[in-house]
Amino acid sequence: MPSYTPPLRDMQFVLHELLDVGREFAELPPHAGLDADTINQVLDEGGKFAAGVLFPLNQPGDREGCHFDPATQTVRAPAGFREAYRQFVDAGWPSLACDPAFGGQGLPVTLNNAFYEMLNSANQAWTMYPGLSHGAYECLRAHGTPPQQALYLPKLVCGEWTGTMCLTEPHCGTDLGLLKTRAVPQPDGSYRLSGSKIFISAGEHDLSANIVHLVLARRPDAPAGTRGISLFVVPKFLPDAKGEAGARNAIHCGAIEHKMGIHGNATCQMNLDGATGWLVGEADRGLNAMFVMMNAARLGVGMQSLGLTEVAYQNAAQYARERSQGRSLTGTKAPEQPADPILVHPDVRRMLLTARAYAEGGRAFCSYVALLIDREQHHPDPAVRQAAADEVALLTPIAKAFLTDNAWIACSEALQVFGGHGYIAEWGMEQYLRDARINMIYEGTNTIQSLDLLARKVLADNGAKLRQFGAHVRAFAEAHGSDPRLAEFIAPLADLGDKLTQLTMEIGMKALQDRDEVGAAAVPYLRVVGHWVFAYFFARMARIAIEREASGDDFYRAKLAVARFYVTRLLPETATLIRQARAGAGALMAMDEALF
Ligand SMILES: Cc1cc2nc3c(=O)[nH]c(=O)nc-3n(C[C@H](O)[C@H](O)[C@H](O)COP(=O)(O)OP(=O)(O)OC[C@H]3O[C@@H](n4cnc5c(N)ncnc54)[C@H](O)[C@@H]3O)c2cc1C
Repeated sequence: MPSYTPPLRDMQFVLHELLDVGREFAELPPHAGLDADTINQVLDEGGKFAAGVLFPLNQPGDREGCHFDPATQTVRAPAGFREAYRQFVDAGWPSLACDPAFGGQGLPVTLNNAFYEMLNSANQAWTMYPGLSHGAYECLRAHGTPPQQALYLPKLVCGEWTGTMCLTEPHCGTDLGLLKTRAVPQPDGSYRLSGSKIFISAGEHDLSANIVHLVLARRPDAPAGTRGISLFVVPKFLPDAKGEAGARNAIHCGAIEHKMGIHGNATCQMNLDGATGWLVGEADRGLNAMFVMMNAARLGVGMQSLGLTEVAYQNAAQYARERSQGRSLTGTKAPEQPADPILVHPDVRRMLLTARAYAEGGRAFCSYVALLIDREQHHPDPAVRQAAADEVALLTPIAKAFLTDNAWIACSEALQVFGGHGYIAEWGMEQYLRDARINMIYEGTNTIQSLDLLARKVLADNGAKLRQFGAHVRAFAEAHGSDPRLAEFIAPLADLGDKLTQLTMEIGMKALQDRDEVGAAAVPYLRVVGHWVFAYFFARMARIAIEREASGDDFYRAKLAVARFYVTRLLPETATLIRQARAGAGALMAMDEALF
C-alpha cells in the first residue's frame, strides 16, 4: 500500500524563504493582510484533507473506475468520491481563491496552487472533478455577461455545481478549426446546440447538483476555421426562475471511455441534441474566451504532474530504505542484516534524486508562476501587471510540458526503484505512471506546447519575453557571481543562458527560410528552456540553503544535495537537447511520406 505525507516543510520553504510571498502580498491590496501563519494553517488543513480523505480513495477508485448506466445516461463515480466531494464543499475548499463578490474567500492563487498539488498527489482522478470547475469559473468571470456571472459563478464557487470544457470532437482535437458542433440562434437570444463532443473530463457524474458545460460551437453564418468558433454555456439542468437546477437540458452522456489511467475520472462522450446554450463573450471569438480556461487548465495539468512526482518519490524513497538487496560497493553498511538497503546503491540514489529534483524544482517554479498570476490580477501598477502577464504567457507552456514530461520520467524511475514490485498493482506505482501519461496529452499535447513556446512566445516577439525572464537570471548571477560557494550553480546557469540565446537566434534565422525548422526544434527547445528555468530556481534555493545550513537543520543539507544533483546529473541533458534542436528539419523531412 502506498502512503502520502503532504510536503509542508518544502512548501513553506518555497513560499516564505524562496519567494517571500508575504512581501509580495503586501503590495497586492486584496492579500495585503495575509500572514505566514494563516498560509501555513490553510496548507496544513488542506494537507489533512488530501492525505486523510482523498488518498485512501485513490487505489480503490482506480480499480473500480466509473460506472455508466446507458438506460439513464448517467455516470456514478467510484465509491467514496461523492462523499469526499461533499466534505470538500462543506469545508469551503472550492471557494479558496475565488472572488468574494461571488462568495469566494479571495485567497491568493499561490495558496490554491499549493493546495491543488496535494490534492493531485492524493488522487488526481478525483481532483479533476473540482479542478475543471475552477477553469470554468475563470472563463465566465472574464467573459460572461453580468447576469451569467450572477447565475453561474456563486454556484461554481461554492462547489454546488461543477464545470467542464467541451472542445474535442471525433475528427478534431488539436485543430479546433475543424469543429462541427452547430449553434443556431433562437428568438429569445439563446442558441440550440447540436453535435458530438468526445473525451470530456467529468462530463457526467454524481458529485454535484448540476454540471456547467462550456462548449465550443459554430454559428450557422460563421466563417470557416478558428475565426468562426463561439463559446457557449450549456448547463446540464437549465436554471429555473430562482437560479436553481431546473429542467433537464438536451446534453447527455452517450458513453464513457475505458482508458490507461485516471480511471476514477469519467471521460465522457457528450451528445448535444438541440441543447439550450447561451453565448459567452463575443460571437466567433470563442477560442479567445476559452483560452482563459485553457491557460488555467495548463498550469493545473502541470500541478497534476507535480503531485504525482512528489507522491511517487515519497513511496520510492520509503521502499529504498526498507528493501535490502546486495551489499554496498564500498563495503557492508548493515552488517546486522543479510543485505544492505538498496539505498546504498548509487543508481538507486540516481533514480530517487531524479524524482526528488523534479518535484522540488517543479514546486519552486509553479509557485513562482502562481505568484505571477496573483501579481497580474491584483498589482496596482498596470505596467507591473502587464509584465507579470507576459511572464505567465512565456512560462505556461513550460509548466505544462516540462513538468508533465518530468513526471513521466520521475514516476518511471520511482517505479524502477521497486524492481518487479513496482510493476505489481498492489504497490501503487504503476497507477502513478499510468495516471501521469495523460498529462502529456490533454490540454494541448506537449508538442503543441513546445510550438506555442517557440513560435508564439519567443520568435513572434523577437525573444522579448525570454529576455524578460533572462533579466531575473542575470540579476541573480550579477548579485551572487562573486560568491565562490555559488559558482557551481551560477556558472552552468550562465553558460546555458548564453547557449540558449545563441540557439534561439539560430532557429529564428533558419525559420525565415523553412518553417519546418520551428516544428523540428520545438520539443528539445522547450526542454532546454525548462532546464534553464529550473537551474535558476535551484541556484536561488542553493543560496538560501548555503546560508542557513549552519543552523544544523537537515532540511538545508538535503536541499543543497538535491540542487547539486540537479546541476551535475540532470542539467547536462541540455547538451544533447541543444544538438537535437540544432540538427534541424532535414533528417525528419527527408523520407518520402510513402516510405513510412
Ligand atoms: C482522458 C482524456 C481526457 C480529456 N479531457 C478533455 C476535456 O475535458 N475536454 C476536451 O475538450 N478534450 C479533452 N481531451 C482531449 C484532448 O485534449 C485531446 O486528445 C488532445 O488535445 C489531442 O487531440 P487528439 O487526441 O485529437 O490528437 P490529434 O490532434 O489528432 O493529434 C495526434 C498527434 O499529432 C500531433 N499533432 C497534431 N497537430 C499537430 C501540429 N499542428 N503540429 C505538430 N504536431 C501535431 C499531436 O501532438 C499528436 O501527437 C481529453 C483526452 C483524454 C484522453
